[in-house]
Amino acid sequence: MILIDSHTHLDMKKFDSDRDQVIERALSAGVRQIITIGIDTKSSMKAVALTERYPSVFASAGIHPHNADRADYHDLKHIALLARREKVVAIGEIGLDFYRNLSSRKKQRELFHKQLDIALSVDLPVVIHDREAHEEVLETLSSFKRNGFKGVIHCFSGDYNLAKTFIGMGYYISIPGTITVKNARQMQDVAARIPSSKMLLETDAPFLTPVPHRGQRNEPSFVIYAAQKVAELRGIPFEEVAQETSNNASQLFNLPLPT
Ligand SMILES: [Zn+2]
Ligand SMILES: [Zn+2]
Repeated sequence: MILIDSHTHLDMKKFDSDRDQVIERALSAGVRQIITIGIDTKSSMKAVALTERYPSVFASAGIHPHNADRADYHDLKHIALLARREKVVAIGEIGLDFYRNLSSRKKQRELFHKQLDIALSVDLPVVIHDREAHEEVLETLSSFKRNGFKGVIHCFSGDYNLAKTFIGMGYYISIPGTITVKNARQMQDVAARIPSSKMLLETDAPFLTPVPHRGQRNEPSFVIYAAQKVAELRGIPFEEVAQETSNNASQLFNLPLPT
């Protein structure tokens, strides 16, 4: 059995004291590949360094909308350089966050567009962060529609109709561990109904800890709880969910076979 955690933040301080064990536990749980996601230049560099240390870890490079106000021309140049490294498999996470508004909308937009350009120029998929900005993310991605351009809407927070629209544009939908929380009804509806060929799983660790570990730090091995919940919702075996979501991640990020 193989699982892939398609979105996690292994570079963060919360993993400094036991990163080796975290990755060991993931491997023991069947999580054979992990994509660690950059949120600014520094974390993208750290992500790339982790790929050199751990064979099962791959990275994305990008600047999160929260960090847009602090980013400048040099950061973008740096992201474009990191994007060419061997184990960098995506540009992200990029997008818009109109929920927390930690950076100005103007800067968020500018940075989102520029990083979509980078993804096009290096021919990598994008990892999209969309919080309370569905319409504008949709509009932006529509205007960037190019042949073969692909990506994933991570921690998908819209309804089934929005998921269908993104899927129609060629995007994958990623389901986080919070699908296990009782009142996550809309997300559960999405996970039960979208085509399994378009679904990825993620932890977004150290955030978004699933049941039954609420209150603790999240980690990649916990992606099994999202897989279990999806299997339950769809009435299919856990192994089928694991297999299919791993195939999807493997295809989207062009991953090598797990060693
Ligand atoms: Zn995000
Ligand atoms: Zn994230």
